Amino acid sequence: MPETTDHYSVLGVPRDATQEQIKKAYRRLARELHPDVNPAPEAQERFKLVTYAYEVLSDPQSRAEYDNGGASASGSFGFGDIFDAFFGSGGGASRGPATRSSRGQDALLRVDVSLRDVVFGASTSVEVDTAVTCPTCSGSCCQPGTEPVRCDLCGGTGQINRRVQSLLGTMVTAVPCSKCRGFGTIIESPCVTCSGQGRVRQSRDLTVDIPAGMDDGMRLRLSGAGEAGVAGGAPGDLYVEVHVTADPVFSRDGDDLQCTLVVPMTDAVLGSTVTVDTFDGPVDLTVRPGVQSGEQITVKGYGVGRLRGTGRGDLRAVVQVVTPEKLSAQERELIEKFSSLRRDEAPHLAEFKQGLFARLRDRFTS
Ligand SMILES: [Zn+2]
Ligand SMILES: [Zn+2]
Repeated sequence: MPETTDHYSVLGVPRDATQEQIKKAYRRLARELHPDVNPAPEAQERFKLVTYAYEVLSDPQSRAEYDNGGASASGSFGFGDIFDAFFGSGGGASRGPATRSSRGQDALLRVDVSLRDVVFGASTSVEVDTAVTCPTCSGSCCQPGTEPVRCDLCGGTGQINRRVQSLLGTMVTAVPCSKCRGFGTIIESPCVTCSGQGRVRQSRDLTVDIPAGMDDGMRLRLSGAGEAGVAGGAPGDLYVEVHVTADPVFSRDGDDLQCTLVVPMTDAVLGSTVTVDTFDGPVDLTVRPGVQSGEQITVKGYGVGRLRGTGRGDLRAVVQVVTPEKLSAQERELIEKFSSLRRDEAPHLAEFKQGLFARLRDRFTS
């Protein structure tokens, strides 16, 4: 746009105008067209052209380039920067009263849940103590039946024009109105419930759905359940941080549940079926004859519900064989008899498992 316009005619000066004449012409036009004086869109467009023409012609080098037909004058310096420096970002385009409302803050809440809750998923009630929209004024900040009135000082624009001296002469610049604080309106009868804030602090109970498979420390985001906004602004979000309390019997390993199954020596030798309580109710576990400590008995699908995807992990019972410590005389007799029948090997050190480490050890010790 600026390239197609003759800068001399824009400023209304002859081609041989002196720097003084150019400066004078610009000052006169700027006072007439400045957005704070003349808010009409046509005036603002002309003002940009005038300012641009002035920037080109006031600099001897860019003026010479322009006179030699160089359209290159455009872009050789930052028109936008200069414009913004004088009149603020946006060149006065984004004017009008400020908005009173603002978004509420996000809130974070910690909630303790049981292992069982994350195995199946659960609903839990949490107490949220945060700002909520004022029930009296519904966020309008005004006493019911009243509404904000237009500010008589700024006429509802929220801005006051202030004259300032600059190198281009007297400029008019806009500052927020001190009476209405830039809002353009004044609340003469603020709501007494919320003191004109549009929100009040309140404790409320909220039901939170904890999905199955959540891990300790994970957060849920409840959109819009955070602090209510100021003056009817959008609410923030509520984050619920889940803490899984330790279970006395079961521990968690990913999607699997793990527990220890204590097996008496005799059951370990002979085998047995044992009924145990799980989160899903009683389950029969089969202990094979000759089971060893550390062996796992797996119940498929009795673990933790998967957070992503379907189904559940497994339940793993780790066998721990217990050796009797106290024997009656009769028991001792039987065991001794059993031992003599068995002719077991004497206790001994297990053979070192052959592997990389064993080969290295052999190399250094031989
Ligand atoms: Zn209120
Ligand atoms: Zn005002």
